[in-house]
Amino acid sequence: MNPLICPACSAALDSRSRETSCPQCQARYQIRALCPTCAQELERLKACGAVDYFCNHCNSLISKRAVQFELTPVEA
Ligand SMILES: [Zn+2]
Ligand SMILES: [Zn+2]
Repeated sequence: MNPLICPACSAALDSRSRETSCPQCQARYQIRALCPTCAQELERLKACGAVDYFCNHCNSLISKRAVQFELTPVEA
């Protein structure tokens, strides 16, 4: 269900917001959600507790399974 894994310790990360911290090693990351087709950053659409991803470039909804997540470590 959750495709995001901490690169430092392999714990599952919460991918629903733009920034997350690892529950296990406390590392902080910025999350970019990228379109699998055009590699542009996706818009997060929040609805009923779920998050949908929309590509403004392709003008289409991207299924969460297809989203390419990119993690950038954030300095503490
Ligand atoms: Zn970790
Ligand atoms: Zn796209």
